[in-house]
Amino acid sequence: MKEDDYSGNLNSVVDFLGNTWSFECMGCAIAAKGLEVPGGILYEGKHVVLVTDCIIPIPGFLIVQAKRHVHSFAELSDEERKELGDVMACTERALKELGITKQVTLVQEERSKHFHVWVFPALEWMEQKFGSGVKYLDDIITYAKNNVTENDRKEIVVVAGKVKEYFKNNFLAS
Ligand SMILES: [Zn+2]
Repeated sequence: MKEDDYSGNLNSVVDFLGNTWSFECMGCAIAAKGLEVPGGILYEGKHVVLVTDCIIPIPGFLIVQAKRHVHSFAELSDEERKELGDVMACTERALKELGITKQVTLVQEERSKHFHVWVFPALEWMEQKFGSGVKYLDDIITYAKNNVTENDRKEIVVVAGKVKEYFKNNFLAS
């Protein structure tokens, strides 16, 4: 896969609701609310934003991203890392306590120009059809894109609402 093919580095995307968005950087556009992610922003702090993945239609597939345009984990400040860690922990707890998944897979690829972490759920159909673990993520993503139903789209927004509510009640920013 070439760098340009990586969706995080594209200059425009069509989200899973069919809306087209153009930007210089997707992460910056999300942070500046120039891209209205389906389900909205689930958490917004001083340095970090939590959203649903806007391209890959999977309920509970969430993205934790830095607001600042940085490339790698090592470029984050202490304060940014602290908030990022707290948000990731709360996201994981939310997905588990809301019964969406028993396990998550965290993925961060430095080839993306804007720092973000995937919080990928392990849904029952994924394991049944493909198996679990990082090596199946590509197959799962392709399947999700090709087989998305109206119900899935609704479910993604419902799950997003639940996670947003969970954060409101449980996230204690320090
Ligand atoms: Zn950016």
